[in-house]
Amino acid sequence: MNSKIDLRSDTVTWPTEAMRQAMAQAPVGDDVYGDDPTVNQLEALAARMLGKEAALFTVSGTMGNQLALMAQVERGNEIILSERSHIVVHEAGAAAILSGAQLRCLPVVDGQLDLQHLEATIRKNPEDIHSPRTDLICLENADSDGLVLTLDYLKGVRAIARRYQEPIHMDGARLFNAEAAGPYSAADYASFADTVQICLSKGLCAPVGSLLAGPAPVIGLARRKRKILGGGMRQAGILAAAGLLALQEQRQLLVNDHQLALQLAAALKAYPQWFSLIREPQINMVFFRLTGYPVPAEQLADRLAEKQILINGPDDGIFRLVPHYWINQEKTNRFIDTLIALAAG
Ligand SMILES: *Cc1c(COP(=O)(O)O)cnc(C)c1O
Repeated sequence: MNSKIDLRSDTVTWPTEAMRQAMAQAPVGDDVYGDDPTVNQLEALAARMLGKEAALFTVSGTMGNQLALMAQVERGNEIILSERSHIVVHEAGAAAILSGAQLRCLPVVDGQLDLQHLEATIRKNPEDIHSPRTDLICLENADSDGLVLTLDYLKGVRAIARRYQEPIHMDGARLFNAEAAGPYSAADYASFADTVQICLSKGLCAPVGSLLAGPAPVIGLARRKRKILGGGMRQAGILAAAGLLALQEQRQLLVNDHQLALQLAAALKAYPQWFSLIREPQINMVFFRLTGYPVPAEQLADRLAEKQILINGPDDGIFRLVPHYWINQEKTNRFIDTLIALAAG
């Protein structure tokens, strides 16, 4: 194990040794012909795990999300979603470019849209030549603040969506982290959405890949759209082999990352004169501010980098730590010790 401590994100995870071996030995075909057995196995497993009819292997989570939009949203029509969602903030305007969609961004409180506001925002009057129609509602679980959606909230959103016959897309880049937070399974959460995107390349350690799961006709359409984007991969079984281990083996280990997040949070709370925890971690994400810490917030990442510790700079004053498979107890302790030592000068 590399001695560097990288807490910037769980996207920095390298493939495990077992993944590298599985990749080297994977049976492959040509996935554009539909005959790569390892890709087919991965897609079938993901569909089963998420309780959906079909699934599609994609290059990235962004591609999975965008295919869900391309397959379900007519140009000029609307998508209702949180203003903080990845699709709005981190996908380079792809929804506008690829789907010609209009994003109706609503505020969230504690990760949740106001349900009355959501319902009032839906537009579904085919007679009215002025208004776009709402074609899709998007949710994120767990969300970018590390919050897991509650079943009550999901029931509320689904009831509204059904009333207006709106499909729901769930961006589940960290759906298995939501599962690891307990007590509900990924399939339980996915049952509230029509389409679901999951990432294999975050805490699950696969080098590349996501899956979009949903009804067979939607996934069939998404498969065609994936070709349009240049996302039809040939001997993709090499990548899918790592994805299989992500779902079969790494998924069970995500609870360890959550334990480390709780330890990091507890350690920060022990020094209230320096750190203010934003919220108790629900998944593998710890958010905090500096309060009276002797090193200025803008300098902290650089100072830690000198000690072989990587974190991102603050976003609006808030730091995020993301423990993952390649962060163990020793590294967690060393991070805390270094943070305290820097303050002591
Ligand atoms: C990481 C992430 C994605 C997809 O990211 P890629 O880097 O494109 O794989 C989508 N949604 C959320 C919430 C994410 O955290």
